[in-house]
Amino acid sequence: MSLEKNQQYELMMEDMGNDGEGIGHLDGMAVFVKDAVVGDVARIQIIKVKKQYAYGRLVEVITPSEYRVEPVCPLARRCGGCSIMQVEYARQLQWKQDKVMNCLKRIGGIANVEQKMEPILGMELTGSEEFPAIRYRNKAQFPVQRGRDGSPVIGFYAGRTHCVMDTDVCYLQDAVNDEILRRFRLFLQDYQVEPYDEVTNTGLVRHILTRIGKATKEVMVCLVLNGKELTGIVDRRKRNVEQEFINYMKDISGMTSISVNVNRERTNKILGDTCRIIWGRDTITDYIGKIQYQISPLSFYQVNPKQTEKLYAKALEYADLHGKEMVWDLYCGIGTISLFLAQRAGKVCGVEVIPAAIEDAWKNAEMNGITNVEFFAGRSEEVLPQQYAKTGERADVIVVDPPRKGCDPAVIETMLRMAPERIVYVSCDPATLARDVKLLTAGGYEVDKVCPLDVFGHSSHVETVALLSNRKIKPDSYVSTEELDEAKRGM
Ligand code: SAH
Repeated sequence: MSLEKNQQYELMMEDMGNDGEGIGHLDGMAVFVKDAVVGDVARIQIIKVKKQYAYGRLVEVITPSEYRVEPVCPLARRCGGCSIMQVEYARQLQWKQDKVMNCLKRIGGIANVEQKMEPILGMELTGSEEFPAIRYRNKAQFPVQRGRDGSPVIGFYAGRTHCVMDTDVCYLQDAVNDEILRRFRLFLQDYQVEPYDEVTNTGLVRHILTRIGKATKEVMVCLVLNGKELTGIVDRRKRNVEQEFINYMKDISGMTSISVNVNRERTNKILGDTCRIIWGRDTITDYIGKIQYQISPLSFYQVNPKQTEKLYAKALEYADLHGKEMVWDLYCGIGTISLFLAQRAGKVCGVEVIPAAIEDAWKNAEMNGITNVEFFAGRSEEVLPQQYAKTGERADVIVVDPPRKGCDPAVIETMLRMAPERIVYVSCDPATLARDVKLLTAGGYEVDKVCPLDVFGHSSHVETVALLSNRKIKPDSYVSTEELDEAKRGM
């Protein structure tokens, strides 16, 4: 039998793929089927055949898997946001645990990784027993487009497209978003404000960004515009449209900050560089543990504060601080981890590339009365080597929390030169974590413990904290391959 495009087949889903899709086998080939659940017996239609594998579309579930559940969200299958809402939550967690372990084994080359793994920390505190892990996010970015009939469409992109689906409710978001979206829709219609068109780079409103301080219930709304001013075609009663937008939003429970962001570029990046506050304060406040944070529209802030508290507690546990240590926190955002660590360290230095986030970090330190921290605006791969060359001061512990692409090689190399006792690696992508862990273990570190966390329930993403300990290297003893080559040539 050879697989043919458009042919239908019946098969059992034996495994889950990298994005949570079902994987079955036909004719010795793996077939990846989006929306199919591991354990389903399903009728599928082949949509693409490659040399070693194929893709199928789920046509019908013949015998549902014991792990299949009815998603709380009716848009779950089409929406590009949630990819595994149809999989029972406990099974989602198991899959994420395995994903981290397999990456560390296969890419990281950590042979006995099973013994290092702690059980994944799930999101048992949000949602209900029937629909666990919902309403946990504190940040939403809804794109706006013009619908076929000319009316605005606000919501999320359908999977693998740039086509916005009208969304009234996102079950991952706080319920306050339902009201913001309802009013925003009315506002756009009433004032005929033009949605942005990414094909022609015309029109005005690109995105509406919302944030809520989960502990304080303070709410922020930021409108991203392809232009400086908020204007509409119909300016009813000759009123200022910007003021009208404020009027639609300001009495929503908890509303604290309303702003406009200017992004005129033809780009997938959501926010432009400048924000103008049009009502209320320029930041909202939130707490993680006992520490208070100010968050501005442009700053990175963890999207699931309850799980973040567990994440930081784990990072703190792995850092094993006793009050005197010198610590670096690379990729520090608004200093969240730095301030957590500073409570138990001698000094913490944070590095972050976004200057506005560093301003927030300094403010956050001051507001919490924390004085043993210093923040640097710049790239970790530049700041860390420069500071180490300048001061020669080594670190006892280095924490890194890079974006998905992982650490720059210059960061890994400088860490190996500085030879801290412990490296705590916080990661949002197990594949790049494993790649970097391989470099660090080759340099003399050993993986002691790994703890996955579910910060993004119903999506295929998983967060991980890994502890690496220095078994044998002394500061400045690390020699890079290039230096070795050079030394050999010189001989
Ligand atoms: N530790 C923070 C933020 C982690 S997200 C927290 O827990 O909230 C990763 C951060 O790295 C983002 O704030 C991003 O702006 C920043 N970043 C990306 N590339 C960087 C680089 N090369 N150097 C320093 N920071 C960088």
